[in-house]
Amino acid sequence: MSLRLYDTATRSVRPFEPLHPGRVGVYVCGPTVQAPPHVGHLRSAVALDLLHRWLREKGLAVTIVRNTTDVDDKVIHDAAHAGEPWWALATRSSRAFTQAYDAVQVLPPTAEPRVTGSISEIVALVQRLVDGGTAYESGGDVYLSVRKVPSYGALSGQSPDHLRASERAVPHGHSGQKRDPLDFALWKAAKDGEPSWPSPWGPGRPGWHIECSAMAVTHLGEEFDLHAGGVDLLFPHHENEAAQSAAAGHRFARHWLHHGLVVGPGGEKMSKSLGTGALVAEVLRGCRPQVLRYALGAAHYRSSMEWSDQVAAEAEAAYGRIENFVRKAGAATEGIEVDESLGKASWEEFAAALDDDLGVPQALATVHAGVRAGNALLAADERGPLAATLAVVRRMLAVLALDPVTQWPASERDLRPVVDALVTLVVQARADARAARDWQRADAIRDRLAAAGVVLEDGADAAQWRLA
Ligand SMILES: [Zn+2]
Repeated sequence: MSLRLYDTATRSVRPFEPLHPGRVGVYVCGPTVQAPPHVGHLRSAVALDLLHRWLREKGLAVTIVRNTTDVDDKVIHDAAHAGEPWWALATRSSRAFTQAYDAVQVLPPTAEPRVTGSISEIVALVQRLVDGGTAYESGGDVYLSVRKVPSYGALSGQSPDHLRASERAVPHGHSGQKRDPLDFALWKAAKDGEPSWPSPWGPGRPGWHIECSAMAVTHLGEEFDLHAGGVDLLFPHHENEAAQSAAAGHRFARHWLHHGLVVGPGGEKMSKSLGTGALVAEVLRGCRPQVLRYALGAAHYRSSMEWSDQVAAEAEAAYGRIENFVRKAGAATEGIEVDESLGKASWEEFAAALDDDLGVPQALATVHAGVRAGNALLAADERGPLAATLAVVRRMLAVLALDPVTQWPASERDLRPVVDALVTLVVQARADARAARDWQRADAIRDRLAAAGVVLEDGADAAQWRLA
């Protein structure tokens, strides 16, 4: 296969070779659902959606598994603060995530396992580690003996000795005693007032890291193609996943892919700097979803990206140029046959960019070059070459989920400003009639608007309108 992806484990861009020809298994660390999503969560989803779509474009059958952590310390803590059950908060937040993914057309995963629906698989994996001697029980908790996993630290490029020096004392919140500060909890003994499930070590709930190891193997098998997540998950989450899976005798992920994070205008971590203004629901009030998708997907997935109103405005301008070209060229070339050979070079350039570690900036440069060339053909009225240029531009946009025709057709939301402008025009005509004391005409306009379901409310300076 021609696709090459950066692999965190080898710290190099290397060929991506599926374990089974023709199909690919991908595991994505999904959200912990203690709050609705912000644009950082959506950037993660858009980056991995591009990988999903590019693999599909290459003819591969993709199984993509994205978990939901619906019970953990944060969910329990925040729900208790709000005075509601933890599962109510998790359900509401989980729905907000799905709505946000759908809003920007992230393809749904093949499976979306929840921690609370995976407890028996998680308990079985912990038991396997205890039986194998790499995990031990202490006071109802179960810990992994990090020192018994020789490969520990290899994924994130750290040595256990270095980690030990930086490790603080045993963290609060655990009932049992660790044998080594590096050890981490696979199972946490139940505390008063917290949800728990039965286990061989008494009632409790899973530690965060073990969940992903169990859910990945349940859906994708003991060895699978690719494990993805944000770079903030590399350590300790992914290092711990890799360690416990190796200790269980699983070959686990063949390729590790990490995407960069979204930061505020000053480069600071997004959740802190942008507050509720960065919530997806809030951002979508002022930014069309296709523009948000464009903005979040435009940077290379491995770089960190800034989020600000200016970034949104620049994306609106850039995507607006694409939409404008597609609309005008579509109208000018209706019924003209497309010579696909004319677009071949652009498509190959685009494909080469994506094959090179998902090089979206270069791929988008090819799209914009196509738009500029197309605008020149439009001006010169060269309809044959224009039709071919439009076809290849739209083919490239479709891979990016940005085709204005099929993927983002005009919606009622787009019509609202148009309707508002038209009604305002009619209201002005009525005001002109009244100013000219043509009462009959003014009343006729009002009546016809009323028949169309538009009610006028005469205010101090101008008439407002609403739907009846
Ligand atoms: Zn995970």
